[in-house]
Amino acid sequence: MTTPKSVCQHCSRPAKNKLTDKHLCDHCFVALCERKLRRNLRNYDLKRDECLLFFDDASNKVLSQLVHIPVKSAAATFGDIGVSVAAPLDTRIVDHYLKVDRYLKERATHRLVVPLTMDDENEEFLQKILTYQKECRKEKTSQQQEKNTAKHIIKLFEPLSRTETQQYCTIKKIPYSYQSGMLGKMLDAFEKKYPGTKTSIARSAKDVRKRFPQEAKV
Ligand SMILES: [Zn+2]
Repeated sequence: MTTPKSVCQHCSRPAKNKLTDKHLCDHCFVALCERKLRRNLRNYDLKRDECLLFFDDASNKVLSQLVHIPVKSAAATFGDIGVSVAAPLDTRIVDHYLKVDRYLKERATHRLVVPLTMDDENEEFLQKILTYQKECRKEKTSQQQEKNTAKHIIKLFEPLSRTETQQYCTIKKIPYSYQSGMLGKMLDAFEKKYPGTKTSIARSAKDVRKRFPQEAKV
């Protein structure tokens, strides 16, 4: 006997997955994830035969299945860039624009693909709210650099949470692993109690950035 929660909301097959507040079967879950990931990738305007640097195999495999134009791939490590692997993913990349920019210049026209998820973006947003003064002082010196380099960093899993990314990769049989920090665990708990919390925070963060574009003040 099936309960309403175990039935796919798109096709009525048994549902084992959850995407935001929707219960979905594997097929519909993958289809919806890929629609979100492709829509996000279109913002980066990938070029034919472009060379992309990847930090992880999962991103490389997922991207190669999403794009229909040939791209070249090469492996990169945080150590190559000179960024600590102990730092949270978002901090490693987003707060090190100068290092990333230099690294990319040394390799000419390359772009980095990072396995950054909605959770990483949310945690960065909340972190900046929690440490407002400190972050504001820091940003004044790096806004232009940040703007210039942002387009070279492809945030592949930005439309999905870490658990959704994990689930997507599991269904696609692509090895993927992540670790949540303190903020991440707090967001997971909120999402469990109030489904849709992560998407709401991501939308709020985008709205705030649009209403108060820091770059416009430079
Ligand atoms: Zn379905």
